[in-house]
Amino acid sequence: MPELPEAEVICRQLRANLLGSTITCIHLDREDIIRSGLVNRSWYQGATILAIHRIGKCLLWTCAKPPEHRYILVELGMTGSVLFNPAAHGLSTHVHAKIMLEGCRQSCVYYWNPRRFGGIHLLTPTEWETWKPRRDGVDPLTITRHEFHQLIQASRGRIKNLLMNQRKVAGLGNIYTNELLFRAGIHPHARSCQLSPAKVDRLFTAMQTILRKAIACHGSTIRDFRRPDGSSGRYQRYHTVYQKAGAPCPHGCGSTIRRVITDRSSFYCPVCQPLE
Ligand SMILES: [Zn+2]
Repeated sequence: MPELPEAEVICRQLRANLLGSTITCIHLDREDIIRSGLVNRSWYQGATILAIHRIGKCLLWTCAKPPEHRYILVELGMTGSVLFNPAAHGLSTHVHAKIMLEGCRQSCVYYWNPRRFGGIHLLTPTEWETWKPRRDGVDPLTITRHEFHQLIQASRGRIKNLLMNQRKVAGLGNIYTNELLFRAGIHPHARSCQLSPAKVDRLFTAMQTILRKAIACHGSTIRDFRRPDGSSGRYQRYHTVYQKAGAPCPHGCGSTIRRVITDRSSFYCPVCQPLE
């Protein structure tokens, strides 16, 4: 968390507010939040923000100072966001970087990240090409049904591990993976290549439905996810199994939701998601 829906929500709000603006300064409250490219920092002064894209759970800003362009890669980690006015929402404590701007509605945006997993990378085009393979999995919102079938059939590991491997599928984390496996009726420990075509179909449909609805609800706020304007998401109200251990199965099968801890907690219904 934040996962794909939260990153997409942040990305859309930043795009609506920051495109075309000029960076006047990158101010750092702690230099180690720049995970790579600190020496590039002064280049960004006077650069225009041309584009903001989501790459999995990260944000990639394209900045131009003709004839050159460079990137700001923002990792959201476990708790990160980019905020317009953290002080107004009592969130000033964990701001680690400020990007000062001209020519848009915001004079400054703040990189906020309480647990400091993840950080910011200031990258030349060559450095971006080197960084990219770390998160070059397919995007769940753009992969086709056919490509999804091929991806699942090619993996011998557990389906949940495959979905959360950012080099295979970029953007899913523990919350949405648990939710979409429940929706599709697939046990988290099922072997990917042994899933029937009908189950893979259900999984693909569940992935599209859940992620799009979560984006429409502005993401899930479990503890501390905030949109740039400081507002919270609402999709946590629709969670069916995540952190619901002991609760009755929402399908009404009579069982209760179980939690099994491997490397991350899995939540599932033993009746609706049998391990065949
Ligand atoms: Zn059930």
